[in-house]
Amino acid sequence: MKKRKLGSFLLIVVILTLVLFSFSVNAQYGDYIVGHKLSSGVSNVHYYLDPSMSSTYQNAITSAMNSWCISGCDVIKVTQVTDLNSAEIKFSNKNYVNNSATQTARGYTLYYINGSGYTAPGAASFPTTDWLRCSVVLKDNLSFAEIVSTACHEIGHCLGLVHPSESVIPSSVMFTYDSTKRTNAPTIYDVTQINKIY
Ligand SMILES: [Zn+2]
Repeated sequence: MKKRKLGSFLLIVVILTLVLFSFSVNAQYGDYIVGHKLSSGVSNVHYYLDPSMSSTYQNAITSAMNSWCISGCDVIKVTQVTDLNSAEIKFSNKNYVNNSATQTARGYTLYYINGSGYTAPGAASFPTTDWLRCSVVLKDNLSFAEIVSTACHEIGHCLGLVHPSESVIPSSVMFTYDSTKRTNAPTIYDVTQINKIY
């Protein structure tokens, strides 16, 4: 009888520990989503590559799309399409050095919300409603590694992530370029957040 009581006590302790741990993990993760999302979800995200881009850009962006397809694509699946109208993410590149709003960034994401066209670039313009598709614009003349890293970050924006606060998340592709915690590919924290949104 005594043994059984001890067993029950230990079981309760284990359960409580697990519950508290999961709460603290959730608290850690939960600061870089705003709740709005790509309307069609992430179970099959179609992407389109502007054919005017070089093969370096095309290959690097494909690599970036695939890097979001984590754990056997359990959460996010991606498919390249050649028809722009069936794509949720369109990629292009250009020299925008003379555009003061974006000249320091390597890329930016525009959101297409039903009827109102694409939003202007910038963190302040993150949509307050769900969106139908995105246009990711990358700066030209980037290296392969820079394209992969930048595309991974912009894809995160398109899927519904904003920039995390420095003190909370250990590592993320969604930190800004000047952060030491910024990775060049999605982390488990990023995918966990995506999983929460959809
Ligand atoms: Zn960003």
